[in-house]
Amino acid sequence: MSSSQMMRASTVTVRVGGVMVGGSAPVVVQSMTNTDTADAAATINQVAQLHKAGSELVRITVNTEEAARAVATIREGLDKRGVNVPLVGDFHFNGHKLLQKYPECAEALDKYRINPGNVGRGANRDEKFASMIELACRYDKAVRIGVNWGSMDQELVVRMMDENAQSSQPLDNDQITREIMVVSALDNARRAEALGLGRDRIILSCKMSGVQDLIGVYRALSSRCDYALHLGLTEAGMGSKGIVSSTAALAVLLQEGIGDTIRISLTPEPGGARTQEVQVAQEILQSMGLRSFTPMVIACPGCGRTSSVFFQQLAQEIQQYLRDQMPLWSGKYPGVEAMNVAVMGCVVNGPGESKHANIGISLPGSGEVPVAPVYEDGEKTVTLKGDHIAQEFQALVAQYVERHYGAKG
Ligand code: SF4
Repeated sequence: MSSSQMMRASTVTVRVGGVMVGGSAPVVVQSMTNTDTADAAATINQVAQLHKAGSELVRITVNTEEAARAVATIREGLDKRGVNVPLVGDFHFNGHKLLQKYPECAEALDKYRINPGNVGRGANRDEKFASMIELACRYDKAVRIGVNWGSMDQELVVRMMDENAQSSQPLDNDQITREIMVVSALDNARRAEALGLGRDRIILSCKMSGVQDLIGVYRALSSRCDYALHLGLTEAGMGSKGIVSSTAALAVLLQEGIGDTIRISLTPEPGGARTQEVQVAQEILQSMGLRSFTPMVIACPGCGRTSSVFFQQLAQEIQQYLRDQMPLWSGKYPGVEAMNVAVMGCVVNGPGESKHANIGISLPGSGEVPVAPVYEDGEKTVTLKGDHIAQEFQALVAQYVERHYGAKG
């Protein structure tokens, strides 16, 4: 099935600042800061970095009075730098108080994330939830009702577990956990609507950390409502484990047309870039053919037929070059983000794969004549040799882009 044939689940479109989520809008990439929100300067910097990397919405935690006081300063600082990314406030326990006490915070945010498991208990909980929804209505903000299996509504858990235990056909533990999460999200969405919040202001999420659990819970959620859905595997983990688990879960759901915005919850390696989560989200969407963000390099893994690391370095340099050029190219060369560039290690698959790409190079493997044919749109155009193959190929890529995506192209 091609991406153009892939059917998206029909959902209501929600406007978050200037970004549309759901309906026919493309799947939106979002991320979250890990700075102390009260440190406005550090948060402005990180939001700007995440946005520059491609995050279309950025969430910040609003957990204390100091954080709430800083939100308007953060918005102003971003606006001054021309960073117009919508901000989402992540609230737990005291959100109603902070939004009431700091109207400039309530105004500066574009969406409030409410976790129904972390609002309160009993009547107190209903009052706090209602207060946050009323504030969202007053300031015309979107809301994400974000259920997380690490912080489920305990009263609902007890009630539904008891009912399940007494049922003649009880669900197993995993099934009832997923059912509680779906019920929590849907009940709270309906309460928000009853309090006056439009369906076009509500996004739902049910995050779990197990791949099969996440797939199951979102299939159930999607089959039972048409609210816009935020997808993400919570606590995905570090490095390749986090990337693989997130990709495994999200790819299945996205392939089924489920999901309107995604966030990849990677734990950064010490000293690692927070922007990695944005890059991974983009790569998932692009490799599935759902969106294009930056030209992709197709490179072979290398094997015993190529003893040199030259082609690995070239593949890496070209990918970095393409990424670095995108801020400039995206305005100047419409469509360039869908370009494919092949960097291949030897004659076995090199010419074939290079011919399938927009532009590709087939480097010489061990024992081959030290020449590197270049292909453009399936035709061999030039053969590079000598010590400057990398620079010459980069120049050819730049010329290709100008010819095919520039004003003349
Ligand atoms: S293209 Fe050549 S070097 Fe690359 S993996 Fe295939 S056989 Fe090995």
